[in-house]
Amino acid sequence: MDVLVLNCGSSSAKFAVIDPATSKEEVSGIAQRLGSPDASLDWKRNGEKASRPIPGAGHEAALRAVGELLNQLGLTEELVGIGHRVVHGGSKFSGSMAITPEVIAKVEECIPLGPLHNPPNLVGIRIAQELFPELPQVGVFDTAFHQTMPPVAYTYPVPHEWLETHGVRRYGFHGTSHRFVAKQALQLTGLSPENHRLVTAHLGNGCSCAAVRDGKSVDTTMGLTPLEGVMMGTRSGSIDPAIIGHISGALNKPADQILDALNKKAGLLGVSGLSNDMRTIEDAAAGGHERARLAFDLFCYILAKAIAALVVPLGRLDALVFTGGIGENSVAVRERTVAHLGFLGLTIDPQANATHGRSQHGRVTEEMRPQALVVPTNEELMIALDTAEIARRS
Ligand code: AMP
Repeated sequence: MDVLVLNCGSSSAKFAVIDPATSKEEVSGIAQRLGSPDASLDWKRNGEKASRPIPGAGHEAALRAVGELLNQLGLTEELVGIGHRVVHGGSKFSGSMAITPEVIAKVEECIPLGPLHNPPNLVGIRIAQELFPELPQVGVFDTAFHQTMPPVAYTYPVPHEWLETHGVRRYGFHGTSHRFVAKQALQLTGLSPENHRLVTAHLGNGCSCAAVRDGKSVDTTMGLTPLEGVMMGTRSGSIDPAIIGHISGALNKPADQILDALNKKAGLLGVSGLSNDMRTIEDAAAGGHERARLAFDLFCYILAKAIAALVVPLGRLDALVFTGGIGENSVAVRERTVAHLGFLGLTIDPQANATHGRSQHGRVTEEMRPQALVVPTNEELMIALDTAEIARRS
């Protein structure tokens, strides 16, 4: 019993076939550089990598190539459903949903909120329906987990009609990851499912933190869009909004170009002038590169402030969970961030911190309560589990 998980971006389509019962990944891969002569289909099966050129392929041709590949690998027979990552579900979805014409219409209504992500997500759904008409399709929304936030967490202090008429509020993202690692953390720490207070820190190319109280998200750092919150690889995170008007006037460029720079040229890349990749930043900082050092210091400082702020809605902290490419792999980011948070009762255990990472979850602080721990995320598995559950019921 397998699930095909699809994550369609603007110029790529990630896919994986997963057995949700055993968590086994039969195959995973990516069709990338779509629409260009260099488009390729790359995949990994049983630890071995392979690649096939699909020159000029768009989403449709790429997904057909994925379908053919799965056929050749003998993986289509076992499929019980297809799970789609959908980025923006607005306030319309508080959980994963079987795809129906009504669901598609609601995802379309959310396009103004997620103009870069929802259109390719919808293309993926349409083509998957054409290719596998007999299989149930399920939408799993990045925003859904955060729909439990109370008004005081999701309301911006702006004219209220912006919320009522234009949906201007905090939605939050990375919900599938926050939900997955929060559940895993309960198993690892032995905390009660009915009584726990966690901060989950998803630190990858995009970064966000969430406050999770008794299994529910009660606040998070990302907002209307994934630009708000902590500093990221190329995204600024939260800044004074007046900077946009100021730089727009100073450079004589329209606001959308400034916003584009805040999304693509800010964060670690903008501050260091070097790279958006934490590995490069750490190496350069160790070698004496001053702006790389500033980028690293700023990243951990802003992150620690955000984590501390999220303890307000929780009232106490039981565990801080690190996940994502940086959270799972960067010993230095965990060490520095936890050092800022000593007043919460967290003290790094250098030995445990050096040992734990992507391939080994576990506690990285001295104490049990509160504790900081590493929990590798697996959004694809979470999507496969939701899809199998909904397919079973339909
Ligand atoms: P993700 O989006 O979760 O795949 O995370 C990707 C990011 O993780 C990369 O851009 C790197 O900045 C970061 N990363 C991966 N490996 C390491 C490492 N060993 N040390 C520090 N950062 C890492």
